[in-house]
Amino acid sequence: MKVLIVNAGSSSLKYQLIDMDNEQTLAKGLVERIGMGGVGHAEMKVDGKTVFDVEEPIGDHVKGCQLMIRALTDKENGVVKDMSEIGAVGHRVLHGGNKFSESVVINQAVMDAIEEFIPLGPLHNPANLMGIKACREVMPDTPMVAVFDTAFHQTMPPKAYMYGVPYDYYERLHVRRYGFHGTSHRYVSKRTAEFLKRDPKGLRIIIAHLGNGSSLSAVKDGKCVDTSMGITPLEGVIMGTRSGVMDPAVVQYICDNDHISVDEMLNICNKKSGLLGISGLSNDMRDVDKAAREGHERAKLARDMLVYGIKKYIGSYAAAMGGVDAIVFTAGIGENNIELRRDVMADMEFLGAKIDEEKNASVKPGRATETDISAADSKVKVLVIPTNEEIAIARDTLELVSKL
Ligand code: AMP
Repeated sequence: MKVLIVNAGSSSLKYQLIDMDNEQTLAKGLVERIGMGGVGHAEMKVDGKTVFDVEEPIGDHVKGCQLMIRALTDKENGVVKDMSEIGAVGHRVLHGGNKFSESVVINQAVMDAIEEFIPLGPLHNPANLMGIKACREVMPDTPMVAVFDTAFHQTMPPKAYMYGVPYDYYERLHVRRYGFHGTSHRYVSKRTAEFLKRDPKGLRIIIAHLGNGSSLSAVKDGKCVDTSMGITPLEGVIMGTRSGVMDPAVVQYICDNDHISVDEMLNICNKKSGLLGISGLSNDMRDVDKAAREGHERAKLARDMLVYGIKKYIGSYAAAMGGVDAIVFTAGIGENNIELRRDVMADMEFLGAKIDEEKNASVKPGRATETDISAADSKVKVLVIPTNEEIAIARDTLELVSKL
């Protein structure tokens, strides 16, 4: 079966068509500048080569979906003859609140729930829902599945997910830690057990998903027991543009001083902080690294803060799980940044974790494969496991629609 994976943003649609017989990606595409006035843009790549490149007005997500279909079924360069070849669509959805601990086949009740959780995911859930509705309109007979970024973390115990504010806020407003990047943490933790040829039962894994957005999770017996992101993706280590965890009084202090609203301040915390805000240069770790190497003090500070933050989470999750068997690096920075992995793992012998510098350096940027980078005498396995959220979404989708 061919499965289409859709990740809808407020003005974009990213998609990938995967042939599940061999899990090969047949095409990757992007529709952008949807509903922004002026011309939008749609492109599709097959084997890394652009085969569809169109600029025209794209008024809404329905039009965006039609363009996606036009690209996929294009007579000359398309990858399917018609849409009937696509057996199912898997949608990435940010927030499943406390209702979804697994992926589900989309029906009206699921769409209502995604809508219900808009207050918890105000930036993404409305866009995800628009993407689902648009796809259902243009592919009314194709079964669709929702895969939630929060689902994997639903196994956390209350002591890990509750915030120390009055309990009433949890009961009335669902205030709690949810965690994100769950599809990645689930995929990588499963691959870790397979790579180590171990039963997930009895394994204690710490996963460092480090990208433009970063989160760490503690996975015990194959289940998430804690994660660094919170009610929104703002909590945790400093990220490309997000502040990470801080005393909430900082928000009030800056709002009062600079006469800005909480909304404006949270926008600063989400979009202008982190590596970008501290370095004053860029949210991209490659730029920050380069400047740090050239002696830029604030780039060095931003880098140090990230390394220190990751170390603290690793230490606390090892303590929370009563030890750790594997520490795993994944996502853009985790897979590609040799020096960052080295610095995070420096002086971790007290935990029984030590990397082999040569093995670490053998994981080449841009070409990471599953690699054991631990030293021969390291009690804890240190691994690089490239994430693959699309495959995880496609597998869930196939499994669920096969049961229909
Ligand atoms: P992600 O959000 O997972 O795509 O990760 C984005 C981050 O990964 C950025 O900060 C990049 O600097 C870093 N990154 C991505 N690709 C590479 C690469 N080939 N070499 C070094 N860093 C990379």
